Amino acid sequence: MTCLFVPPYLLRRIAESGHPGAGSSNQTLRVDAGVRGRRAARLAAPPVIDGAWLVHTADNGTVLPGEPVRAAGEPAVGDAAVDEAADGIASTLALFAEEFGRASYDGQGVGVSLTVHYEKDYDNAFWDGAHLVFGDGDGRVFDRFTTAIDVLAHEFTHAVTESTAALAYEGQPGALNESVSDVFASCLKQRVLGQTVDQADWLIGEGLFLPGVQARALRDMAAPGTAYDDPVLGQDPQVGHMDEFVDTADDNGGTHINSGIPNRAFHLAALAIGGSVWQGAGQIWYAALTSGRLAADADFSAFAAATVAAAGDRAEAVGQAWLQVGVDPGGESVPTGTGAAASPTDVPAGVVAVRRSGGFAGRTTVGVVDLDGADPRADEVRDLVSGLDLRRVKPALPKPDMFTYTFEICGADPVAVPEQHLDARLHRLAEVVLSGTEDGATR
Ligand SMILES: [Zn+2]
Repeated sequence: MTCLFVPPYLLRRIAESGHPGAGSSNQTLRVDAGVRGRRAARLAAPPVIDGAWLVHTADNGTVLPGEPVRAAGEPAVGDAAVDEAADGIASTLALFAEEFGRASYDGQGVGVSLTVHYEKDYDNAFWDGAHLVFGDGDGRVFDRFTTAIDVLAHEFTHAVTESTAALAYEGQPGALNESVSDVFASCLKQRVLGQTVDQADWLIGEGLFLPGVQARALRDMAAPGTAYDDPVLGQDPQVGHMDEFVDTADDNGGTHINSGIPNRAFHLAALAIGGSVWQGAGQIWYAALTSGRLAADADFSAFAAATVAAAGDRAEAVGQAWLQVGVDPGGESVPTGTGAAASPTDVPAGVVAVRRSGGFAGRTTVGVVDLDGADPRADEVRDLVSGLDLRRVKPALPKPDMFTYTFEICGADPVAVPEQHLDARLHRLAEVVLSGTEDGATR
């Protein structure tokens, strides 16, 4: 019986990683059972912020936005995550206001709500439609998600995109949504560092990985697919040309993987135009994003055409940049590549699997528990899935950079649940099943 679609290479890497987190995690699970009752992430209505921004702390919980700790105009509080978020949002608002004439993400100067210390050991940052949210990282592979200033600008840009082109967060428009966030993240970083396009390193999330991890950053806009290659993390899965377009159900259709293609087009256009990226290519991309002429389901070619149309006397350079990554601004973006897809594989019956994909890093983690084997987690997993009817889970749209969990309970079709819709039981099921992996929720 085919009951799972776990890519064999991922299973192999998890089994062979030899990391202390792999194998039996019974001890950890007993310790962690106390958090079983915690609430899953809930979405709140957009808060009314008095002033330009307000940083909250979730105090390692999941209730948003949490307690206010620092508002615009107030001095540093001595908590690194709070103060990094404060500096980051101030720089990001300044970039959009001073270079693009945009007041906050909605263009009307709405106050920005930020939350740090979200969850425990949380390896992610996201925009949920109301708040910019940052985890502390696990302290082993990932550092705080506020350490890299471009991560904050990336999340803020998701809010700008939501207020403007509203690109769907799936497939090619989803990859464009991701790429646009990296584009303005890079503009922010280069502006803060005072670099020209030739001086910039074009890395996204530099400093996010802790020492010992074989990584320069999370993504490289100049050379997608080369940012990291690590025994535990695996290799940076980004691609930089349509010939390598990855057709996958993970990561909302490869949003963080195929975004390497428009990322590289932006890098090539920026180099051709030269100077400061926020005054050159950044202006063209901003004009395209806010032109009102982009459909929510725009593909790469449609977006490319919008940038060419916005480029004025730079149209030739911008068009050439897109052609170099295999995107024809006058055509259609039909993937021709043979990029690796997450393909179904046969596994024995009696198995429960959870795939976690998406997230800022765009990585996919797979956990498997064989209910018939000697896995110490089997009893709890059997309890958790007993009477569980995933068909009742309502379909929901993914949010930028939030995780998507795909549950496969033997015999049933896989069901994808966005992070913000996990209830306490699904949250615990994901935590237990992923705990056997090298970067699972529990260690
Ligand atoms: Zn993103």
